Amino acid sequence: MATSARPDGTTAAQAEHPAAGAPERVGTTARILVVEDERPIAELVRYNLRREGFEVDVAYDGHEAMERARVVPPDLVILDLMLPYVDGLEVCRHLRARGPVPIIMLTAKDAEHDRVLGLESGADDYVTKPFSPRELVARVRAILRRARDQGPADAPLVCGSLSLNVSTHEVRLGDRFVDLTAKEFDLLRLLMSHPNHVFTRDFLLEQIWGYEYSGGTRTVDMHISRLREKLEDDPDAPRFIATLRGVGYKLKRDAG
Ligand code: CA
Repeated sequence: MATSARPDGTTAAQAEHPAAGAPERVGTTARILVVEDERPIAELVRYNLRREGFEVDVAYDGHEAMERARVVPPDLVILDLMLPYVDGLEVCRHLRARGPVPIIMLTAKDAEHDRVLGLESGADDYVTKPFSPRELVARVRAILRRARDQGPADAPLVCGSLSLNVSTHEVRLGDRFVDLTAKEFDLLRLLMSHPNHVFTRDFLLEQIWGYEYSGGTRTVDMHISRLREKLEDDPDAPRFIATLRGVGYKLKRDAG
């Protein structure tokens, strides 16, 4: 499993052993979210990552993890598979649907099934328990380095003539800038992060407005409608955002 294809064409072994002398800049600023209900393990991981200069946030269950990731988006998530309330796989899918954050899954020893599930659900790598903190830190560095080399934070999300730049918070349609509110931007960003993926209205509501928001899914419909007015030539025959009746919305991959 560890040598399966990676986005940059390297194998796990290559990712773990980068060229000697490569600059070590990632560890100084990256924020890591550790999701682990076993407190001694969580503390061990936190201690070791902090010592390496990472900023570390710990969540002890799946709900807490999703809420923390929503409030302060992490640069990388270390996610235990076995969690109370919401298991690691569900948390993984949830985080994946939000954006391209790298995820390292912690799995039980020899649980090949768990690893397959973990990678299928969107984890970038896995570490089996018991693990050495040193190995985990090495994986974290390798994955952050890879993510940084790919420049996900600066690369705009593009769909046909529509592009969205997360770092500059700008949306362009052809050669003109489109002025969006913060919620419209977040909503479009989520849709553009996974073209053709159908997001339910409940999911969008929870992701963009949060668990505590008391408004209904009508809020989502209203914002989609405003996005269409700003993006579409004919909002009644949308090129970009498709409605799946009774389900939700998706951004069309082949949109003009
Ligand atoms: Ca656990």
